[in-house]
Amino acid sequence: MGTNGKTFYIAYMCDHSYVLAAALEAFGMAAEVMPVPDDETMNLGLDSMLGRECSPCFMTTGDMIRRARQPDFDPKKAIMLMPTANGPCRFGQYNVLQRRILDDYGLQDVEFFSSSAGDSYQGLGDHPNQMRLLVWDGAVATDLLQKLLHAYRPYEVNKGQTDGIYKEGLQQIITAIRAGGGNALSQALDHIARQFEALPVDRSEPRPIIGLVGEIYLRFCPYANQDIIRQVEEAGGEVVLASMIEWFYFTNWSYMEETRDVGQYFKYLTTAFTDMYQWYREHKFARRVAHLLKHPYEAPIKDLMNNIRPYYDPALSTEAVLTLGKAIELAKHGASGILNIMPFTCMPGIIVAGLAPRVRADLANIPWLDVIFDAQAGTNFHTRLEAFMYQSTQYYRRVIVNN
Ligand code: SF4
Repeated sequence: MGTNGKTFYIAYMCDHSYVLAAALEAFGMAAEVMPVPDDETMNLGLDSMLGRECSPCFMTTGDMIRRARQPDFDPKKAIMLMPTANGPCRFGQYNVLQRRILDDYGLQDVEFFSSSAGDSYQGLGDHPNQMRLLVWDGAVATDLLQKLLHAYRPYEVNKGQTDGIYKEGLQQIITAIRAGGGNALSQALDHIARQFEALPVDRSEPRPIIGLVGEIYLRFCPYANQDIIRQVEEAGGEVVLASMIEWFYFTNWSYMEETRDVGQYFKYLTTAFTDMYQWYREHKFARRVAHLLKHPYEAPIKDLMNNIRPYYDPALSTEAVLTLGKAIELAKHGASGILNIMPFTCMPGIIVAGLAPRVRADLANIPWLDVIFDAQAGTNFHTRLEAFMYQSTQYYRRVIVNN
């Protein structure tokens, strides 16, 4: 799509949003990540809705309205980038609702661009394939950087040092993606690896590994999840976060299943080839930091799907499939507890919570906490987290250490 001098506005979900903006810029498009969501954007979103929508919808809508109110915002030059998806999940309706809300605010001139999980996010920009691969490379690098952050920060000797390395590393990834990725990105990862190699850590007191799975926006956005990763670290755990690129592998898998079932073999093969190439790129970059991580490479989606077959048919799709498959994978690879986070009334999240008791029963009753975040914040989350961390520590001693 030509942008005619317009700017893409991207709601902040996580640091991958900056990498996406950098990739757009690499292809000559103007892009801006809107300021991180906060109470103001949450309230703006809530004021413009009925209150029955998902909390990521409140926040991303509030982000748009807040940005559109700034004096330098020109609706005629703005494109809101809001991905979508097919299927039963409400995510597919975010952009429809947001279009109507912006219209009500007199912002009919603002365009929307919605790439879809339904076609595995094909079709962004004038060079969709190259663009998609650059975004992929950036997402791989950012996931790796986050894996390092979570694997090292709980053990750092000098408080705050890991966050400093992370911030600098993220900036290097963004700069490399803006320059087109490739060698610049490899060099950025090499630099990051050296920083982590030199980071003083104290691992004399092992911590239970907590697998963090669930709804993707909440999982990644610290404001939306009340900074849950730091809370777990402060309570004595180490978090392994289900990655961003896992979602893209999953959309490839879903699209391949769909196209094969209806006999669209060309689309099937094209996606299979893209998937293989993405896998190759993931491994190429992950090798640069692999010596610093226990599990640097993503588990194949077919393994995650096989994990859930005894409980649920992967063909039913939605994020529930991925969350369950990943939770089981993490439990099989040393996690001592699973945190499943979801917005209030999240459909896939409720399915996962409903199936969790059967899954846990087959996993030595691994501690499992379903955390529902609504627009109210607060509640008694901290107390529940402390109890969960206590159980996870017991599980670590009883099951992980003894095996
Ligand atoms: S995954 Fe849950 S929170 Fe996200 S759009 Fe679907 S129902 Fe809403």
